Amino acid sequence: MTDLPLTRADALARLAAFVPVAGQDYGRLRNLDLGPGRHRHVSRLSAALRRRLITEDEVIAAVLAHHPYPAAEKFISEVFWRTYWKGWLESRPGLWPDYLRAVAQAGARLETDQDLRLRHARACAGQTGIDCFDAWVQELDSTGYLHNWARMQLASIWIFTLGLPWELGAAFTLARFVDADPASNTLSWRWVAGLHTAGKAYLSDAGRIAAMTGGRFAPKGLATRAVIGPETLTVPRPMPPRAPVRPAPTAPSLLLLTPEDLSPETVPALQDLPIRAMACLDGESAADRIALQDALARAQARWPEARCKGALAPADLAQAAQDGAQIVTAFAPVGPAADRLTALPRGLPLTEYLRDWDAQVWPQCQKGFFALKQHIPAILAKRGLA
Ligand SMILES: Cc1cc2nc3c(=O)[nH]c(=O)nc-3n(C[C@H](O)[C@H](O)[C@H](O)COP(=O)(O)OP(=O)(O)OC[C@H]3O[C@@H](n4cnc5c(N)ncnc54)[C@H](O)[C@@H]3O)c2cc1C
Repeated sequence: MTDLPLTRADALARLAAFVPVAGQDYGRLRNLDLGPGRHRHVSRLSAALRRRLITEDEVIAAVLAHHPYPAAEKFISEVFWRTYWKGWLESRPGLWPDYLRAVAQAGARLETDQDLRLRHARACAGQTGIDCFDAWVQELDSTGYLHNWARMQLASIWIFTLGLPWELGAAFTLARFVDADPASNTLSWRWVAGLHTAGKAYLSDAGRIAAMTGGRFAPKGLATRAVIGPETLTVPRPMPPRAPVRPAPTAPSLLLLTPEDLSPETVPALQDLPIRAMACLDGESAADRIALQDALARAQARWPEARCKGALAPADLAQAAQDGAQIVTAFAPVGPAADRLTALPRGLPLTEYLRDWDAQVWPQCQKGFFALKQHIPAILAKRGLA
């Protein structure tokens, strides 16, 4: 099993251990990919942040307590990248079903196109003969994690050297990353493919790969041109993020935990609600189940009177809600968790809370990251973080 943090206690311990190097050291060394078991220049907090076992506010506050703002700027802006992708996708929700359709279409092509099927199978098995690519696939399979810089190279080689559809690559990593995140994953793949910023794709370079991996690799035959397409750059116009359906403040409530937010005891909007029961949905991944169990145990400690119903099938959730409770859950951004909630039986009294981090930052994520970046000092000040 992974050594990535999947409980809140592990996430807090990982944060405490990482904080001393989150300042200028991180700014200088974060792009070095030293290989499995040696990723000491990055936090490896993403599996916990993605599930909000620990929040962006908590991570940034801990880092700023050791490294006042300019020193920690690089690390903090990376944390904002996560929010940026979420907010950007939230205002273009149609890109997610478009992506799912494209994965299905590319999957169907694998059935009929033998050459594509063979190249795809070799890539997925890490048997392309490109040393770094094959090693990263092995690392991903055995640890569920890749360094950010390695993710960029893997995606670039997949698209431009191996000539495989980016959507199949995104599906490949989404199924394997322990931090799998629909926004960061899909949109990073689009960014590498040249579909996020006009005229800009990310092309790997053998010399840079050798330098950034401490000479571990000397890849041969990498593409020297990034040919964008056949899809052309069509970025949908942003629309306002969907508004949450808020819970009634005094109604008996069933707290439904999803992998989108697993530290409910820290959510101000939940503190005064009469929470009578708590549950999650069944059928989650093994990593999500560990994190959900940890969250349910903490929620039970916070609301000891509430009945813990464990993992419920959708039909059982409907039954639980017939006990008169409104269901309260974290706002699920575009992605699989939102799809699961949408597929629940109609008419469930489902209500949502939106973290004020998202409410504050998402509206600033409509354009490029650098438009958001300008606002980071003001956002931190407004939140009392700097
Ligand atoms: C092709 C590709 C696919 C990706 N897929 C995912 C994914 O499915 N899930 C996921 O969580 N991240 C994804 N990322 C973003 C990034 O690679 C990971 O968040 C990061 O590598 C996690 O490692 P860390 O926690 O050690 O990061 P650190 O370097 O320690 O960064 C601290 C935190 O900042 C955030 N962060 C850092 N870099 C990025 C980034 N480029 N984009 C968004 N957030 C970032 C993460 O929350 C991370 O935990 C992807 C990047 C690429 C290029």
